[in-house]
Amino acid sequence: MKSYDVAIIGSGPGGYVAAIRCAQLGMKTAIIEKYATLGGTCLNVGCIPSKSLLDSSHHYEDAVKHFEAHGIEIPGEIKVNLEKMIGRKQAVVDQTTTGIDFLMTKNKIDVYHGLGAFKDSTHITISGDSKEEIEAKYSIIATGSKPTSLPFATVDKERIITSTEALKLKEIPKHLIIIGGGVIGLELGQVYKRLGSEVTVVEYMDRILPTMDAGLSKELNKVFRKQKFNINVSHKVTKVERNGAEVTVKAENKKGEIVEFKGDYCLVSVGRSPFTAGLNAESAGVKLTERGQVEVNEHLQTSTSNIYAIGDVVKGAMLAHKAEEEGVFVAETIAGQKPHIDYNLIPGVVYTWPEVASVGKTEEQLKEQGIAYKSGQFPMRALGRSRASMDLDGFVKILADQSTDEVLGVHMIGARCADLISEAVVAMEFRASAEDISRMSHAHPTFTEAIKEAALAATEDRALHI
Ligand code: FAD
Ligand code: NAD
Repeated sequence: MKSYDVAIIGSGPGGYVAAIRCAQLGMKTAIIEKYATLGGTCLNVGCIPSKSLLDSSHHYEDAVKHFEAHGIEIPGEIKVNLEKMIGRKQAVVDQTTTGIDFLMTKNKIDVYHGLGAFKDSTHITISGDSKEEIEAKYSIIATGSKPTSLPFATVDKERIITSTEALKLKEIPKHLIIIGGGVIGLELGQVYKRLGSEVTVVEYMDRILPTMDAGLSKELNKVFRKQKFNINVSHKVTKVERNGAEVTVKAENKKGEIVEFKGDYCLVSVGRSPFTAGLNAESAGVKLTERGQVEVNEHLQTSTSNIYAIGDVVKGAMLAHKAEEEGVFVAETIAGQKPHIDYNLIPGVVYTWPEVASVGKTEEQLKEQGIAYKSGQFPMRALGRSRASMDLDGFVKILADQSTDEVLGVHMIGARCADLISEAVVAMEFRASAEDISRMSHAHPTFTEAIKEAALAATEDRALHI
């Protein structure tokens, strides 16, 4: 039987990054993955394929709607070849997952393909083509999550689908009904809206992206309505039925009335649930919470001291970069170091266009916590860069402590905000004040100037260009 310092179950961004860091720190490391390819949800059916389709559909929309204004004329009809678009997405996924194989080899990490299950706290069986058993001094559970299902909506993977199927459809839906106006619903909804589908979003809460700053929800809602999305908030879906090629979704609105939506596809995107099936966690003494997450302490250590857990399978945001930070954190903890993660400074990004990005506290949280704050906001449309690229929607909002001016939250919506948010993360990591940001030079013309202007507005209400 092979023996390891660390065995990691699950090869998503949490697991494979943990494996690399363990190997870098000199530990003999194994990683176990039940699927044929490494990379987990993120690389195979999550972040990477969804961004590939968002990029392809964005190019198509630009060609159809915006090229002409830029003086670019394309003779003849511009058409979508969905099969080719999905094929390109798959090529990007394949290239990316193969890259993880390379990283495992480079770092001398043993890769096992098969379902990993605890026999006890130091032994794991792997059921793949054959059955194997390994011994590990420490283990890291990084088994991720799966789409949450609704008891009244049977996902048949044909017409009633999850994000996994939505990433490989064979036709463009005529009318896609999306249950859940969260991140997946809006990103994939925009893909198919751009490709020509009618898109209806049915959201339970009173706004889309309900966990983000309300100002962002309002602005994205406005832009999406301009793009002719049919958005229904405060609608609780209670029934989903399929009849041949027709799907009917019934929801209860605020007044208690039942509203009916009919389409040809229904995407169920109401969140994701921790995945521990087949892991046999109880044999190792690992406890789960009521919500099915692996229970961990502040060191991400489970109820069994030599077993840790990271990523989507534990509490916190279900984000690839959060899983990665936790992977590094646990590897360094096992190596005897004292790492730290500031969860408040893990940014959240929605890759629609305009992009939506946030870090730190929202206005709603500051109010709830009774923290006195000031706010500075600057509209993207006032920037020269925005006019040059015709990306006029959105704003940057900076929330700073009323008395100390320390930046407490940054919320932005607009072109390239997914990348712009990093400046806010750096500033907040170094506990910058709004004035600190306002006194730094920002290249002209760039979208980053909106951050400087919002900081000026927050400090002394003296934005320069509005
Ligand atoms: P996962 O990536 O889920 O990996 C877990 C792995 O463990 C899987 O490969 C699974 O097969 C394996 N496994 C499970 N049980 C066993 C077992 N017993 N034995 C062996 N292997 C096992 N996040 C972002 O930050 N940015 C994005 O843009 C983004 N886009 C997304 C788009 C979509 C459509 C979806 C669905 C998710 C997206 N996410 C995004 C979320 C992101 O994918 C997850 O937060 C991230 O993958 C979590 O990483 P993880 O390592 O915890 O788990
Ligand atoms: P989500 O939590 O973002 O959104 C789910 C939405 O469904 C919520 O707004 C919720 O109110 C709504 N809902 C729940 N039950 C409902 C019902 N019966 N009727 C109507 N609406 C209902 O979840 P998601 O969009 O499925 O995404 C899952 C996870 O994947 C998220 O945690 C997210 O962090 C991650 N993800 C991240 C990215 C990114 O970082 N860009 C992209 C995709 C997914």
